[in-house]
Amino acid sequence: MRTQAHKTRLVIHKGTSEIGGTCIELSRGEGTLLLDIGLPLAEGSVPVDLKNIKPQAVVVSHPHQDHYGLIETLDHGVPVFMGELSRNLIEAARLFRHEEPLKNNFKYFKAWVPFQACGFTITPYLVDHSAADAYAFLVEDGEHRLFYSGDFRAHGRKSILFEKIVSDPLKDIDVLVMEGSMLNRDNGSFPSEVAVEQEIGRILKRQKTLSFLIASAQNIDRVVSAFKACRDNGKTLVVDVYGAWVLEQLKLVSENVPNISWPEVGVYVQCSQYETVKENRAFFGKFARDIFHGDCRVTLEMLEAEAEMFLFMTRLSGWRFIRSGLGTDDIHFTPLIYSQWLGYLDEDNWGIYGAREMAELRDDTRVQFIYAHTSGHATVVDLHKFASALAPRMLVPIHTEFRDEFEKYFDNVLVLDDGQELIL
Ligand SMILES: [Zn+2]
Repeated sequence: MRTQAHKTRLVIHKGTSEIGGTCIELSRGEGTLLLDIGLPLAEGSVPVDLKNIKPQAVVVSHPHQDHYGLIETLDHGVPVFMGELSRNLIEAARLFRHEEPLKNNFKYFKAWVPFQACGFTITPYLVDHSAADAYAFLVEDGEHRLFYSGDFRAHGRKSILFEKIVSDPLKDIDVLVMEGSMLNRDNGSFPSEVAVEQEIGRILKRQKTLSFLIASAQNIDRVVSAFKACRDNGKTLVVDVYGAWVLEQLKLVSENVPNISWPEVGVYVQCSQYETVKENRAFFGKFARDIFHGDCRVTLEMLEAEAEMFLFMTRLSGWRFIRSGLGTDDIHFTPLIYSQWLGYLDEDNWGIYGAREMAELRDDTRVQFIYAHTSGHATVVDLHKFASALAPRMLVPIHTEFRDEFEKYFDNVLVLDDGQELIL
């Protein structure tokens, strides 16, 4: 007879009833594997203490903080499996925040190529999400097959990846751990990235002054939407130094993502970011020279002289620059295209740098505030297609505020609590 030690144990330490902080344990015998080690997003939610769990390996689904944010608290020897691009994007964000490079023991996996960790065979499936280099995972222990969806959607620029999974689904899935961020939510007027691109284009066509776009530089689909809208309307997309570096990383894996060598892309070189690049020459190589002396550089004088030719992409923290560029007359409104989660502007989130100031800009009479955003997560309709195709024996909700609603939409739902054990 098998002993408990040879059974696979599934414990979701965090994420059964909140969005963010995801941490899934799979253990068998002595081996403890974690899928994602995220920082919580919900106020008051306490991060998982990895010292209590003592994982022997960690697998990270994608470079969003609510999935990898606890990486620094991990023993440096523990192997951390992730996509190489994910690691590069995480390191870039850290450098620009003046944080030390990570000291973890990184191992890179490739899409659809199985690898071994803690006695499990893990196959990464590239998925469509608002982060680049995002994966779902098939985890096999020799007897059972578990599929973890990670964060995913079907309405971005890589929707083909979703179609692939549902049109030729994996068979014999015992457990599907599936995200449900969009339960009780919808995408409003923007069902897809293409709808966002069209809205940005509509604004650019009529702009009489510089337009601003508030979006994450790591949301590559959104950068592509902004770029296409600019190209179709004869405008230049201006990114900051950090945004330019993100695009340099993408250049290594895709020829289809715009970068600073494309004529319709410009870089605004802000002093503090340029210092970061110069101080870390070993990491950035000739990038400092490319942005400072290259044709891509867009100066303040150029922005002022031909303001209506540019779309300036920035973040909440760019509020000061936006405010300084507002006109003093009542005729020319400054278009401010807000292209990320609207909740950041709620008073509850004014602790985030720039959130309060951006909310003030929204209400400024000199600003034309436009909301254009679609979620990084699958709608209920797409979640349903996904779950029906994989037809798991058990479907466990994760990354959701509405786990109790899963039963309304999906079959074979098993609702777990954080920390509850399920023996497969
Ligand atoms: Zn995510």
